Amino acid sequence: MASNLEEDLRAEMAAWEAAGLRRRLAESEAAPGLVDFATNDYLGLAGDPRVVEAARAALAEHGAGGRAARLLGGGSPLHAAAERAAAEWLGAEAALLFPCGYQANLGLVTSLVRRGDAVVSDRLNHASLIDAARLSRARIFVHAHRDLDELARILARTRGARRRLVITEGVFGMDGDLAPLGEMAEFCARHDAWLVVDEAHSAALLGPRGAGAWAAAAAAGASAERLVARVLTGGKALGITGAFVAASAVLVDHLVNHARPFVFTTAPSPAVAGALLAAMQLAAAGDERRARALGHARTLAARLALPAPGAAVVPVPQAGAEEALAAAGALRAAGLDVRAIRPPTVPSAGARLRIVCHSFNTDAEVDELARRLSAAPGRAAVAVAAARDRTLVVAGTDTGVGKTVVSALLLRAARRLGPAAYWKPVQTGAESDSEAVYDLAGAEGHEVLPPAWQFPLPASPHEAAAAAGQTIEPARLEEALAGLRRMLPDATLVVELAGGLLVPYRSGYTQADWLERAAAPLVLVARSGLGTLNHTLLTLEALRARHLEPRALFLVGDRHDSNRETLRRMGDVERVFEVPRFPALRPAALDDWLDENDLAEVLEA
Ligand code: PMP
Repeated sequence: MASNLEEDLRAEMAAWEAAGLRRRLAESEAAPGLVDFATNDYLGLAGDPRVVEAARAALAEHGAGGRAARLLGGGSPLHAAAERAAAEWLGAEAALLFPCGYQANLGLVTSLVRRGDAVVSDRLNHASLIDAARLSRARIFVHAHRDLDELARILARTRGARRRLVITEGVFGMDGDLAPLGEMAEFCARHDAWLVVDEAHSAALLGPRGAGAWAAAAAAGASAERLVARVLTGGKALGITGAFVAASAVLVDHLVNHARPFVFTTAPSPAVAGALLAAMQLAAAGDERRARALGHARTLAARLALPAPGAAVVPVPQAGAEEALAAAGALRAAGLDVRAIRPPTVPSAGARLRIVCHSFNTDAEVDELARRLSAAPGRAAVAVAAARDRTLVVAGTDTGVGKTVVSALLLRAARRLGPAAYWKPVQTGAESDSEAVYDLAGAEGHEVLPPAWQFPLPASPHEAAAAAGQTIEPARLEEALAGLRRMLPDATLVVELAGGLLVPYRSGYTQADWLERAAAPLVLVARSGLGTLNHTLLTLEALRARHLEPRALFLVGDRHDSNRETLRRMGDVERVFEVPRFPALRPAALDDWLDENDLAEVLEA
């Protein structure tokens, strides 16, 4: 039967909506008259008459359009002038104008690294940086948010790469905190890596003359030796659109030749270049405006007992996506435009209100917002960035590789450290892994949670579900996980997947897709023996392509020193454990193994 695209899309959208993820443009538009605590127009430059006039003059003189790609005669003298001004402002040799920040990140990263290289990325980096890393085909290593120790460990074990690029936001757009740029630059110097800083939420706000987070770090003594480029987006504090890559003249020349999102796109409108020129002038001279925006953010955070923000974004954690939506709705009804941020923009547990403070917000407006937020229900107890995800997913390279034994080991080790629980979301076949873990881990009844789905056919989840006349709804899995997290906020939750990583839950949706959405910490279990190298390296590639980095690799079976060494060298996994086939699979055997192998670091990383 012919497929029906619209029907398929409606069904997909219904599932999206059921998971509370649906957005509608009409609902997102700002209602007139609301107080803006939502947009990235930090300094109010979007509506500044001098900026608007500069755009108008540019249009009158150079026409409305970019007309062609820059290399084919497009653009105007204002484009080059804006590039010179951006370079001068940021203290770089040169700059190149892209149509937007997303394209600037794509162009920059894909021009610098390729297959055989490594990109090291903060887990909370913006989607454009993640997509840029993926598109480059370099291997992607993700470290926990602002975790310098993990960054150092990754740099130490990726020496085999031709080139290593560390990519970060200066101030994180969703969490509002600062990257430790000075230390990151130092680590790059020590390990022969290069640093890229996306200044989207720091330019015009931090540093001398508002030159950004890097400029602030440099003023505090950071060495620029390893800074390879900064991305200055024009759509945030500058109030326009477009973005500059500010770097050495050599790199800019390289981008002009190699950055496909620059080479193969029409030059931005002269209005953009003209307005950017005016906005950069105002921003550089805008000490008073930035002080107001930053002051509001500090005041608001202090009133809500939240950590001091890095610049002008204050994330206010919410218990869940629904609570965040309700809180934002109530504030908008009271005339304050505040936006809820929920998955997939942020990890599952990270629903929040993202408050943006502007120079044009008044003290009275900030005071009212603080009062309403203090009184609002649904606030989560911890700061978003500080919340540690105590979930640990156990993924496998295949079925029958020893995931259940590793899960039991992890649960047993976790119970030594505090409250812990085990959950196998989807169980297929008559044998119950939950029961096995229950016995092996010596768990109490309440520590082994019932599966969300259980099917008698010993097959892949999608097939076993179909045989039982059912479908596995990823949205329901997510709800179930979120519910368990709420119910057991302090417990380490060991979650065992079914079979190999890419096994489908339903047609077109694999366990890896779910894991990418959940963005939970994970470990990988592989069989020790013939065929391990290929399965393990493929699975690592599949994980890293999804911005997922396993905390450890467990090789289960007879010792195989050469495999272990090859995987250490080529897999670049931080920790590799070997688990034997226990002659008698009993709790005491697991305890003996745990006495020899400390899993605390894996559980508490
Ligand atoms: N980087 C960061 C950190 C961002 O927040 C954004 C926009 N949200 C971008 C890049 C993309 O910039 P643009 O909107 O100009 O494409």
